[in-house]
Amino acid sequence: MPGYVVQTLEKIEQCGYEAYIVGGCVRDALLGRRVHDWDAATSAPVEATEKMFPRTVLTGRKYGTVTVLTGGRKVEVTTYRADGEYTDSRHPEGVVFVSDIRTDLERRDFTMNAMAMDLRGELLDPFGGREDIAAGLIRCVGDPEKRFSEDALRMLRAVRFSAQLGFEIESGTLDALRGCAHLVSALSAERVRDETEKTIMSSRPEKLYTAFEAGLYDSYLGPSEIPAALGERLAVLSDMPFSRQVRWCGLCAVLTEEEVISDAADFLHRFRLDSRTVSAASRGCGIAVREMPEERLELKRILAAEGRDAAFCAAAVADALYGGSRVRSLKEIAGSGECVRRSDLAVSGADLRDELGIPPGTRMGDILQAIFEHVLAHPEDNTRKKLLKLAASLADD
Ligand code: ATP
Ligand code: MG
Repeated sequence: MPGYVVQTLEKIEQCGYEAYIVGGCVRDALLGRRVHDWDAATSAPVEATEKMFPRTVLTGRKYGTVTVLTGGRKVEVTTYRADGEYTDSRHPEGVVFVSDIRTDLERRDFTMNAMAMDLRGELLDPFGGREDIAAGLIRCVGDPEKRFSEDALRMLRAVRFSAQLGFEIESGTLDALRGCAHLVSALSAERVRDETEKTIMSSRPEKLYTAFEAGLYDSYLGPSEIPAALGERLAVLSDMPFSRQVRWCGLCAVLTEEEVISDAADFLHRFRLDSRTVSAASRGCGIAVREMPEERLELKRILAAEGRDAAFCAAAVADALYGGSRVRSLKEIAGSGECVRRSDLAVSGADLRDELGIPPGTRMGDILQAIFEHVLAHPEDNTRKKLLKLAASLADD
């Protein structure tokens, strides 16, 4: 436990309350993984926690969370609570603060996430989280069907953790996941997107197959068969660069090739991804699955026609799917300083008008395009003198 976390827990104890680190940080510490957020749980009410520390932010009054700021670091300190009734498979109706940590651990999703540890290293593990971690199992706390019906996001979290940690979903939990899959349609697309993205950005993106096959994505796919080969095919995503755009593009390419989706842009839009990602990934997918060439000039044409984002997505996905070194070639092209955009040409429409008297219009557009295509193939000709001469000869034709 880093010093600032120890000091935070000490301070709370000195004020007469209980304090534990809890949830994901305990899990990751036991696994020897890097801990990115240290979360604490306490018996202290929010107002008491706020008074203990000179710098705090009330992050969520309703949920009892105070962020304690200590020398540039932060610890989220949350008062023990239980969740109220769930009526919509998404959010509890409200929360109630409780006096014991066990009740707080009970509301948590999986046994591995329902452990707490105090300052002295004493572990509270009422649901066998440590054993499940040792066995590599993701198991719901309590009745899985009830827990998934309360909050359908837990099903996507189960898949995401299995991909990040390389764990299996315990069989009772998996059965419930299949039975409750349809409840995912009640979740906001943003929450589904975020979990999906974490899964495809992990080192085991093929775990997404479990989710497809169980039907978690039915409301995102429309009616389609999930082929048994999809699991193996999805593994290729881990060979792709660690880039959001590329991984979404790769997912679309695999789903397109397996005939699970037919319109990548439509599929991506359903996740409410930002328009830049939708555009790069869907266009990149279109190029990658149509046997993307490897030849330098062809890659340059693609870069010129589709733009940097889509071209790089396509190249990265095609390299991983079919082999080759398109990404390396594209980087070389981008670094060469050669003209790959109309605006990089040594002449503009205004030059053609002023120097050669060509009036603006479709004819001028055609001439500029012809010059541009010439320069893609002959980068050494991108000088004002040579291009004006070329334009003059084209205008005479
Ligand atoms: P990571 O931060 O590495 O993604 P985490 O387990 O810390 O994993 P968070 O979303 O940060 O995940 O949540 C912190 C803790 O809150 C979890 O470990 C779990 O105990 C609890 N938790 C989070 N989301 C849910 C949920 N949907 N249902 C029940 N408990 C949850
Ligand atoms: Mg966390």
